[in-house]
Amino acid sequence: MKTNLYAQRNERLYLKNKKYKEPTVCKVCGLVFIDGIWKKIEKPRGEYYEDICPACRRIQDNYYGGILNLKSDIIKSKKEEIINLMKNKEKESENINPLRRIGKIEQISDNEMNVYTTFEHLAVAIGKAIQRAFKGDLDIKYKENDKVARVYWVK
Ligand SMILES: [Zn+2]
Repeated sequence: MKTNLYAQRNERLYLKNKKYKEPTVCKVCGLVFIDGIWKKIEKPRGEYYEDICPACRRIQDNYYGGILNLKSDIIKSKKEEIINLMKNKEKESENINPLRRIGKIEQISDNEMNVYTTFEHLAVAIGKAIQRAFKGDLDIKYKENDKVARVYWVK
């Protein structure tokens, strides 16, 4: 599993005052912080610190980096397909950086749902994948300062 150092740089801004000691194991998801980044690897043998990784912390704090809003009549008929596509994107994204995750999926109505991702890239990647698969219109609003992406897909 490869973990991309560059990909985690922005992620770390959320916790720029937070310093993790090495090695640290996330007590929620089990990721290991070592060599300056979070990796999906076996727990280190011997002693390690315990803490909560930035992804789990965001989920706990309900403080998401990406919010994707989907509006379409096909949500009702193709819900399973849409959810599978999201999960696949999440898996792909986790290979680049295991801190990129779907925090929660909210069904608002028969034809509307919100998807919350720990960091902005995943919301954008899912939005693009949905547009590729189902067409429709995609609008990405990205605020550089607070590192939050709001992604809207309508069909
Ligand atoms: Zn974690």
